[in-house]
Amino acid sequence: MSDSVIIAEVSKGAISPVTAELVSAAKAYGTNPVMVIPCTDASIADGSGYDGVSRVIAVKGDCFANYDAASWASALDAAAPSGVIFAAATPQSKDLIARIAAKRGVSVVQDVVSIEGNNLTSPIYSGKAMQTVAVSGDAAISVRANVFPGAATAACEVSVVDQSGDVATAVQEIIARASTRLDVSEANIIISGGRGMGSPDNFVHLEKIADVIGAAVGASRAAVDTWDDIPHSMQVGQTGKTVNPNLYIAVGISGAIQHLAGMRSSKYIVAINKDADAPIFAHADYGIVATWEEALPVLESSLSSMMA
Ligand SMILES: Cc1cc2nc3c(=O)[nH]c(=O)nc-3n(C[C@H](O)[C@H](O)[C@H](O)COP(=O)(O)OP(=O)(O)OC[C@H]3O[C@@H](n4cnc5c(N)ncnc54)[C@H](O)[C@@H]3O)c2cc1C
Repeated sequence: MSDSVIIAEVSKGAISPVTAELVSAAKAYGTNPVMVIPCTDASIADGSGYDGVSRVIAVKGDCFANYDAASWASALDAAAPSGVIFAAATPQSKDLIARIAAKRGVSVVQDVVSIEGNNLTSPIYSGKAMQTVAVSGDAAISVRANVFPGAATAACEVSVVDQSGDVATAVQEIIARASTRLDVSEANIIISGGRGMGSPDNFVHLEKIADVIGAAVGASRAAVDTWDDIPHSMQVGQTGKTVNPNLYIAVGISGAIQHLAGMRSSKYIVAINKDADAPIFAHADYGIVATWEEALPVLESSLSSMMA
C-alpha cells in the first residue's frame, strides 16, 4: 500500500473533525496516510493521531498563523512526503492543494464525494452533473465534508518539522468580523435564511432554532447583498460556501440554481416558503408552505420539546 498525505484542517487552533474523514478517504483510495499539520505550535499534534494514520508530522512555522497561499504551499510542499495528497474541500484547502499540486506537477481533483478504486466522483456545472475521473499516479484531492465516516482517534508517532525560517512572506494579521457562531462549512445541520426573512433582525429567529439543534446559520446571496449585517461568510452557493450537511433548512429562500449549487448535496433538505411554486420545493425532502412567521415559532417549540 503506497503512502499518501492528508493535510489536517486546522480552525481556531484546533484540528477540525473533517480531518478524521480525510483518513477514511485516503484509506478508501487504498493508501496509507501520513498526517501533516500546519501549525505555529507543535503541541497541537499531541494526541492528534487517527486509526490508520502511519505517522503525524507537525509542520511548524510563523506563516501558519494566518492563511497565505504562497507561503503555506511552499512550507508544506517542503515538509510533506510525496504521494497522493488529501485535504478538505474548504475554500482555503482547495486553494492550498492546487498550489502544492502546481509545485509538484500533479493533477488536482476538487470536491470529491465518492472514491471507488482510483475513480473519483465530484459534482460539476454547479452540481447539475457528476463527473468521474480515473487518476493514476500522484494527485491532489479535496474531499467534501460529511461524505466519509470519521476515523477513530489513535496514538501515532509524531515528528516536528520547523519551517519557520524558510518562507519569504507571512501574513501577520487578518481582521475578520468576530463571530462566535458555528461556521456553515463545518456544520452538520444548517438553517439558512433568504430575502424572504424581510430584515436582518429576523435572523434572530433562525439563531434561536440553531441554538436548540446545534446548527450553523447560513444565508442566500440576496440576503448577504441586501443587508450589511449578514456577512458574506454566511453565504451558501456558487459564489459562497459549498456545504454538505445532514440537514439543510432553507427559510424564505427561492431555490435559485446558484444557491442550489452550494447545498443540493445535503442529505435532507427542508424548505419553508410562502410560495408553493418556489423552485426550492422541487429539491426539498420536506416542504412547508407557510410564512416563516407562522412556521418558525412552531418549529422552535417542537424542537425545544424534542431536545429537552
Ligand atoms: C453569478 C451568480 C452567482 C450567484 N451566487 C449565489 C450564491 O452563491 N448563493 C445564492 O444564494 N445566490 C447566488 N446568486 C443569486 C441567485 O441567483 C438568487 O438571486 C438568490 O439566491 C436569491 O436569494 P433568495 O432566494 O434569498 O431571494 P428571492 O429570490 O428574493 O426569494 C425570496 C423567497 O422568499 C419567499 N418569501 C418571501 N416572504 C416570505 C415569508 N414571510 N415567509 C416565507 N417565505 C417568504 C419568497 O416566496 C421567495 O421564494 C448568484 C447569482 C449569480 C448571477
